Amino acid sequence: MYCQVIVDIVHENVAKPFTYVIPDGMELSVGQRVAVPFGHREKEGVVVALTGETDIDAEKLRAVARPLEDWAAIPPELMALAGDMARESHCPMAETLRLMLPAQMRGGRVHEKTEKAARLVVSSEEALSAADAEKRSPKRAALLRLLSDGEEHSVRSLAEEVKDPSDALRKLAEQGLIELYDRESLRSPGGSWRETRDPGYTLTPDQREALDEILPCLAGKGGRFLLHGVTGSGKTEVFMAAVRETLAIGRSAIILVPEIALTPQMVSWFRGRFGPVAAVIHSRLSAGERYDEWRRIRRGEARVVIGARSAVFSPVNNLGMIVIDEEHESTYLNDRHPRYDTRDVAANRCAREKAVMILASATPSILSFAKARRGDYVLLEMPERVNRHPLPEVEVIDMRQELEGGNRSVLSGALSRALKECAARHEQAILLMNRRGYNSFVSCRSCGYVVKCPNCDISMTYHTNAADGLLRCHYCGSAVPPPEKCPACGSRYIKYFGAGTQKVEEEVRKLLPGVTTARMDYDTTGGKDGHGKILEEFRSGRARILIGTQMIAKGLDFPQVTLVGVVAADLALNLPDYRSRERAFQLFTQVAGRAGRGEKPGRVIIQTYKPEDPVIGFASRQDYRAFFESEFRRRRNSLYPPFTNLARILVESAREDEAEKKAKALEETVRAALGEHPAWQKKVITLLNEEPGVKFLRGKHRRHLLMKTLVSKETEEFFAFLTDLLEDTQSAEADAWLEVNPTTMI
Ligand code: ADP
Ligand code: ZN
Ligand code: ZN
Repeated sequence: MYCQVIVDIVHENVAKPFTYVIPDGMELSVGQRVAVPFGHREKEGVVVALTGETDIDAEKLRAVARPLEDWAAIPPELMALAGDMARESHCPMAETLRLMLPAQMRGGRVHEKTEKAARLVVSSEEALSAADAEKRSPKRAALLRLLSDGEEHSVRSLAEEVKDPSDALRKLAEQGLIELYDRESLRSPGGSWRETRDPGYTLTPDQREALDEILPCLAGKGGRFLLHGVTGSGKTEVFMAAVRETLAIGRSAIILVPEIALTPQMVSWFRGRFGPVAAVIHSRLSAGERYDEWRRIRRGEARVVIGARSAVFSPVNNLGMIVIDEEHESTYLNDRHPRYDTRDVAANRCAREKAVMILASATPSILSFAKARRGDYVLLEMPERVNRHPLPEVEVIDMRQELEGGNRSVLSGALSRALKECAARHEQAILLMNRRGYNSFVSCRSCGYVVKCPNCDISMTYHTNAADGLLRCHYCGSAVPPPEKCPACGSRYIKYFGAGTQKVEEEVRKLLPGVTTARMDYDTTGGKDGHGKILEEFRSGRARILIGTQMIAKGLDFPQVTLVGVVAADLALNLPDYRSRERAFQLFTQVAGRAGRGEKPGRVIIQTYKPEDPVIGFASRQDYRAFFESEFRRRRNSLYPPFTNLARILVESAREDEAEKKAKALEETVRAALGEHPAWQKKVITLLNEEPGVKFLRGKHRRHLLMKTLVSKETEEFFAFLTDLLEDTQSAEADAWLEVNPTTMI
């Protein structure tokens, strides 16, 4: 017998499987990890096929050294998925197989944890009579009685009944009454489960209707749904009910959330309702805990998995459903190699395993809603909040008038008054400021010089510390003290412009002395459980006003919040990206949805210098449909995705001339190839060799070949050609890679 093995090294020459002999007596299956000789060393690999014969000369073949586990780490469905992903994203299967395994498993970095256990090797009657006969050692007698149930007992649990049992157990083993051995023990993260088995709410008619559409597919051949429900419509309750049904029919479910740290509520609901059958995968698990959770899933002990995008690869038994909550979030796109869109991966898995996919959002992505309209997904709508609580009232404040009226603060008169009233009523408020730091940039009044990061072509942001302040780069993290004199002209007129979360917090404290605030942004959430602590401050009511970046817009459910302020809407609207309107609409609608979720009605104030912008209008009416129609039309007219692909080859080099040289050479090759393939040429609308928006980043000079193409089979061929081209022209002087519809194009 032979097997084909993908060896775990990523190199273009070893993308193909290698054939090995299976030694007599060794049993292997597809998906199993093995150690194989490779060159002069031993490598890890995954068995992708078993064959009875091979046309390779048997003399040349080497044998598998040993299996790494005696079970298949990757189940057949995930083997197939890894194959599809490798084909579609033009990358070696060794890379996509890595996605299917916990990182800690590779290279043998984690080991199963074992514990000592004991059990009888004689009958219960014999054990009991031996216990009665045992006059010298009451310990041994007691242990025999405990073990007489015939079950296996960990030494640890025996020690709870009988003090220091080790010597006595060893003696019993010597007498041939029991055996002592090592057994695998799983670390359980998060300690013991607070298992309330909360039965959940009685569903509202909207929730019931949505669930009734899903359930028949769950028991049958699967299906794809887009659950569009306004904020507070109770979407979570719908998929928790669907999860319960999934478990009841013996299948498993995967629930994906954008960022697990920001969804503590969801996690505790799932734990409370499903107990140990739920596994939570998050970044703060230790390597060992992560591996053990994965084992629980692989063995079928955990059948509900909650996690961020990579949990889509969980090896659950008999997959019945994948839910992608807040499906519009860009965290579902993996921009690193191998690139994937979690929604596509989930769709592939669900189709293969006849499972149900549910995408859920109050503000679905343009892409997903367009698919629902085309009939690719069944659209489920929940237009009302649970208990018919109204959506909050939204007011738009024109900041130009504030300025004319002499108000230079970041807070308008209306927002200041509303904050005061809110505090006086002992209610809570959330303020969105989509930029961290104190000031946004520092510039010279005399000559206009702007302080930029030495490693990046990006202006630096002023951050206040306890004692003093530093200028920080938000791209590479470097920090410098602010200059006292202008480095360009020597002038001392250095001014700080724009505002960030720190500045907003300071102004709020000035406005409302004695009212406790909490700030949630990248700077305050760094440590272990940083998010959790801040959210707990706010949930408990100790902090009354929460100020933060877009982090605070996600899925939080605080019934005491009656006021939400968008401090600077223009920050989101003015980003140079074709998706900025979509992102701004989502952000405003989501953050507005945090208000008025409890009994008291909510109020939302959006501050902007562009009140006439249609996106502000759609967001203030919370009219998703109207926004969708307008944005869809605009994308069609201006030829943006989903009607086209925006792709680029990004070139980076430590030397500017090398970046330019490589970009030029690639451009010529690409143009020549297009000349030879008129079918490709027809699909390429533009091809530009230019400086990207940021031409120097993290110490590298950058160029890109920017391409706009139609969506077609020929385009896919063209992209495959580009991937091969980039591999063939790899060089030490400059890096180059292809990005198709990446999350950012800076
Ligand atoms: P969404 O995710 O749609 O914004 P949530 O799932 O967070 O909404 O639900 C909003 C609130 O309504 C939560 O506090 C939830 O516990 C509550 N809720 C959900 N369904 C029901 C129901 N059927 N009856 C009563 N309360 C419900
Ligand atoms: Zn100057
Ligand atoms: Zn930088």
